Amino acid sequence: MKNKPTGILFFPAFDWAISPTHPEREERLLYTRDQIFEEGIMDLPQISEYNPKLAQIKDIARAHFCVPDVAAQVTEAHLVSAGSTLVIADALMQGEIKNGFAIVRPPGHHSMTVSHGNRGFCNINNEAVMIEYLRQKYHIKRLAIVDTDVHHGDGTQDIFWHDPDVLFISFHQDGRTLYPGSGFMEERGGPLAYGTTINIPLPPRTTDIGIHFVLDNLVMPILEEFKPELIINSAGQDNHYTDPLADMRFSAQGYARLNEKLAPDIAVLEGGYSVETALPYVNMGIIMAMAGIDYGNLREPDYKPERFKESPQNMEEIKGIVKTQLNAFKNRGEIVARNRAKNMDFEVIHKNIFYDTDYISEDQTERLRLCKNCGGFRVIHSSAQHRNAKYYEVYCISVPGYCCDSCHQEGISMYNQMKNKSSYDFIYLQDRIDDQYRSFDISKETETVL
Ligand SMILES: [Zn+2]
Ligand SMILES: [Zn+2]
Repeated sequence: MKNKPTGILFFPAFDWAISPTHPEREERLLYTRDQIFEEGIMDLPQISEYNPKLAQIKDIARAHFCVPDVAAQVTEAHLVSAGSTLVIADALMQGEIKNGFAIVRPPGHHSMTVSHGNRGFCNINNEAVMIEYLRQKYHIKRLAIVDTDVHHGDGTQDIFWHDPDVLFISFHQDGRTLYPGSGFMEERGGPLAYGTTINIPLPPRTTDIGIHFVLDNLVMPILEEFKPELIINSAGQDNHYTDPLADMRFSAQGYARLNEKLAPDIAVLEGGYSVETALPYVNMGIIMAMAGIDYGNLREPDYKPERFKESPQNMEEIKGIVKTQLNAFKNRGEIVARNRAKNMDFEVIHKNIFYDTDYISEDQTERLRLCKNCGGFRVIHSSAQHRNAKYYEVYCISVPGYCCDSCHQEGISMYNQMKNKSSYDFIYLQDRIDDQYRSFDISKETETVL
């Protein structure tokens, strides 16, 4: 393992931006690339560079219900960004690399199960696409995603909310003070997956000291107990002290040490908008940590350690969070058993989801089958008016890859029944057991199978 290189893949997406002056634009990665090449990092034997490729439409449908179809929600840049994570996943699973970092955009962690448009700069959740691919192709079951972006990874949380085999840990600036306004401690996963979603809402201006306390006393012990087959890092660099979109105090050194402790198998870039100053340093620190190169000399020109002491109030709040969430994680088995014993058929959840970039408001009713033998399957009734003024009412059935035969059969028969319901525009079936993704257009009475 030790002698294998770290896989690095750059995809700056030259032709994709929300608008020319928007912070989510190609320069985000160009400065990083320039710096890494200038420092000669790419020539080191510890690094192996990979080229991007397109994800297949089916790869996207495995993770999302795109309305009305995948083509409506993705550009070529999205397919390359998601596809790049699959290149790194293949390289890892085929034993070519010891770990890998997909430095790609557009980002993905605000994109949820149903995609009607762009939320928080995201249409497609790159990590979710990669995880379902890893499960399908390499039969990986248990994974952990640690989201280190300053914004709550609400899309990833939504996608794996009911999945007892995916541990999702997100630390972020407290949702009362930052977009998307979620990620509170009480959000701990669905009734049969309780405790496998762990949110760590940090007070503004948390420093390296605070985050390493969380890492040492909460994140690492939980990972040790959960024993995932792979650790994925949603690597957002916007906790950095210079980031214009948030108010945290992390440094490039802090991020590099974080990466060293976490030792993710795969890191996928998320946010980070301090384009010229912080982002190249943080990304470089992460690459060096992953490749086992000494990053001790990585110094940001304006970093003054005395400015970065954790305040006693922050430290007290952080200690409280660690204690509460450690307990919640330890008691999760009991709560899941209690929920299973309730003998209900379905748990019903109503949601309103706002797409800030596209100004779309989606109404959702999600139901989880409370199965005795597995994590259950989900049905989602979703409606939203798209940017082109078209209104869609859709019904989505999601059968996980690791569910029991009765849930699988019930999901398929539900799909066949719903095809007669003229009140919907589309009925979708995500059948991960057969790796088949069906979409039925009610008005045209036509079916598409991926
Ligand atoms: Zn972010
Ligand atoms: Zn079941």
